[in-house]
Amino acid sequence: MVIFRMKSYKGLPVSKGIVIGKVYKYSRKRTLIESNYIDGEEVASELNRFRQAREMAHETLLLIKEKASKDLGESQAQIFDAYIHMLNDPVFGEQINELIREERLNVEGAIQKALAELAEKFKRLNNNYFQERLRDIEDVVSYILRALHGTTNDLTNLPANSIIVAEELTPSEIALLDKDLVEGFILRQGGMTSHTTIVARSLSIPAIINVDTRLLEELRNGEEVILDAIRGEVIVAPEWEVLERYRKKISIFKKKEEELLGLRQEESITRDGYRIRLAANINSLEEVDSVLRVNGDGIGLLRTEFLFRKKDHLFDEERQFKIYKSIVEKIGDKPVVIRLLDIGGDKDLPYFDAPQEINPFLGWRGIRVALERQDIFKTQLRALLRASHYGDLRILIPFISSIEELREVKGIIIEMENELEQENIPYNRNIKIGLMIEIPSTAIMAEAFAREVDFFSIGTNDLIQYTIAVDRNNSKIASLYTPFHPAVMKLIYQVVKAARHEKIGVSVCGEAAANKYLLPVFVAMGISELSMSSGYILESKKLIRKLKKEDLEEVLDKVLEMSQAVEIENYLKKIMEA
Ligand code: PEP
Ligand code: MG
Repeated sequence: MVIFRMKSYKGLPVSKGIVIGKVYKYSRKRTLIESNYIDGEEVASELNRFRQAREMAHETLLLIKEKASKDLGESQAQIFDAYIHMLNDPVFGEQINELIREERLNVEGAIQKALAELAEKFKRLNNNYFQERLRDIEDVVSYILRALHGTTNDLTNLPANSIIVAEELTPSEIALLDKDLVEGFILRQGGMTSHTTIVARSLSIPAIINVDTRLLEELRNGEEVILDAIRGEVIVAPEWEVLERYRKKISIFKKKEEELLGLRQEESITRDGYRIRLAANINSLEEVDSVLRVNGDGIGLLRTEFLFRKKDHLFDEERQFKIYKSIVEKIGDKPVVIRLLDIGGDKDLPYFDAPQEINPFLGWRGIRVALERQDIFKTQLRALLRASHYGDLRILIPFISSIEELREVKGIIIEMENELEQENIPYNRNIKIGLMIEIPSTAIMAEAFAREVDFFSIGTNDLIQYTIAVDRNNSKIASLYTPFHPAVMKLIYQVVKAARHEKIGVSVCGEAAANKYLLPVFVAMGISELSMSSGYILESKKLIRKLKKEDLEEVLDKVLEMSQAVEIENYLKKIMEA
């Protein structure tokens, strides 16, 4: 009898797309060895557990070997032959079986005991060679242990078509991934604007968060699942007809994306001629190609903290200069807005010595770090100024909460300009300096700030969390985190009016910029630019081209009169879906 276990689970889609892939369960925790004794009747199942785990470890090692020989060459891959040999060593296998049978140890206990005995023997030999062999054996054994626990703490050796299933992932962990091997993410924790989901979106990797713990428990490593990150659904053990249906859906989705490419040369303009620029948010050098593919209006936000994430140290001036210069040159005449390092909150740099804080989002973050660690800050500024000579590079200052802070930063920029001047190094003397509006105090004081800078960029991700006191990463209160909150609408409008009054540009670069229901509001407010993951640019363009600014003035008035987020959201949905 065939038992179907097909089931579906709901979650919040945070990066659109539909994929079919293989589960890859990941846990940051190291695989714990839980040694224990077993009852006589458990011996057979324990022997079986060992056999299966050994077979799975064998398969994993074969895959790694294949990848290593492709990436690193045959000779480097030979180490994995040695590993496979050790894994299949009959003496080792029999020793574990015996410990299970005779000493009634579970597999973990048997492995631990065998390793301890071996370590003791090698220690007596007092020879480096054997110490190294012991390390190899421990490594081989770790593959068995991971197979036993069904999760892994290794993100560097993914099989192809992996859908990563995890409690949570940090942006640094995503940086480790070989993106060609990842089809999607299924996570329990996170929010629409946590940096992990932002990175997934900018890489156009479908992702779903807030899934039930039962789903994480139920999924088995290597099994096929459907991840529908449009409807917000995960289908476990899909039946054949369901798979077929989804394959069709995927090809329709892809076709629609292709069709959108037809709009790449069209202007982003409303029916009555209001032009709103659609720029891209990027987090890495590789993403520049995606911006070119959709013909975005330049780069509206480059989060530099992500550029440095992969390596084990901050880049020096020369290296940063080369990166910034190459981005500016690739983008051509269009503007490239580069944000100064914004470390802190949920953006750690593994090698950066930041203090443990009870409240990191209200702590040592963004410009507060930069002003204290001026060595880092000045290096970045020099590199940016030097690169400004090669295109329309603009500097964006994050996380400012007072005029004093902003003036201090501007003072240091002038200091760096003077240094370059003296060294006869060219830079753009009219470089534009912009300010992130992401803290309510700055939004409230927008008029004063508008007289100090060349443009504003509204960071709704933070502005929302600080205005309504809802942590952007906390899935427990995710339903409270909404861009439709009337206080957020009013604050944004206040900032836009201040910018318009002082005749400076104003863009929205938080995730709300790609929210299609907010488009009429942003157009009506007179925002000059929206900056979003490049995968959302053409869809937004398509919608903008259907709007008429004149008709939207009334919509904005109505929104500003409303006092509840849900009222605003429903009203805007009705308008856009009409
Ligand atoms: C924001 O806060 O809206 C923003 C764009 O910056 P980040 O998401 O990096 O905090
Ligand atoms: Mg921010």
